[in-house]
Amino acid sequence: MNLCLGIESTAHTFGIAIVTFDGKVLANVKDAVSLTSGGMIPSEVAQHHVAIKEKMLGEVFSKAGVRMKDITLIAYSRGPGLAPCLRVGRDFAKQLAQEHHKPLIGVNHCIAHLTIGDFFAGSTDPVYVYVSGVNTQIVALAAGVMRVFGETLDIGLGNALDKFGREAGLGFPAGPKIEERAKKGSYVELPYSVKGMDVSFSGMITKATQLLKKGELVENMCYSLQETCFAMLVEVTERALAHTGKQEVVLIGGVAANQRLCEMMKIMCEARNTKFYPVPIQYSGDQGAMIAWQGILEWNAEQRNDVELAEIYPYERTDDIHVTWRKE
Ligand code: AMP
Ligand code: MG
Repeated sequence: MNLCLGIESTAHTFGIAIVTFDGKVLANVKDAVSLTSGGMIPSEVAQHHVAIKEKMLGEVFSKAGVRMKDITLIAYSRGPGLAPCLRVGRDFAKQLAQEHHKPLIGVNHCIAHLTIGDFFAGSTDPVYVYVSGVNTQIVALAAGVMRVFGETLDIGLGNALDKFGREAGLGFPAGPKIEERAKKGSYVELPYSVKGMDVSFSGMITKATQLLKKGELVENMCYSLQETCFAMLVEVTERALAHTGKQEVVLIGGVAANQRLCEMMKIMCEARNTKFYPVPIQYSGDQGAMIAWQGILEWNAEQRNDVELAEIYPYERTDDIHVTWRKE
């Protein structure tokens, strides 16, 4: 049995997983930085990753019931992400690969979100709605590239929600708390901002923060933020479906855990006879299994070994990657 050890460290989460080459996740451990106030400071997050990496490695092996000698391939997240955090994962992966004479593959974190989404959804050629902390992209495969049909022009949706949460004293990550508070809120108009196929969130967050300071209920702001942001995403996704003629939607990234977003996407998909696949929550946010799975796909397609260079690419985009593991 061939096994891949995958390491994720692009941002707040440090994760390690062991996955079989046919996609069985033997163990998927992770630990994320959480904050009660302020934002992430890259060097501090990197220190968190350094402090826990050995313990996590021990944990993943004991949970999977295998040993280093059983591992065929090691994969790490090479970007995009915070450079100090990426370096921790890369250095650890490279050290393990060299010490134990294993091939090493660096993969794109965003692409890994998409392909683990397909694996668990069973989708073949979807429009991907990728909504994480930093990223908000509507993506689909076209001419050998995961083409970005629409994206945020400023901050990612998760970060936008977290930014509002910080102002409202909800702590980090704020997404789940906003979802909870929204259940008791009612609608107050906020700037709806779709520009062509792109979206922007920062004006809306500024407005919501101003209203909050003027005494508007936090529940109403949570509800209105969700309704407005999610409607924008649904609009662009529907247009991407119409343009591409694709008939599946896969929702991934940390924000995909939001039940209201899933519900709104589902309504649109049903109206168009399109299949909608939310990805199981444990695989929709950042974790090591997606890195391992993407490593396996690229290894099978390319037999590439990155151990010598082992680069990190903090700004690598989804559409920089040539898709070698899938036929169109
Ligand atoms: P990721 O970068 O993919 O790990 O996603 C992290 C982001 O997902 C953070 O910004 C969270 O606030 C957000 N998030 C997590 N759960 C929810 C939720 N239930 N609703 C909205 N956003 C969420
Ligand atoms: Mg992510």
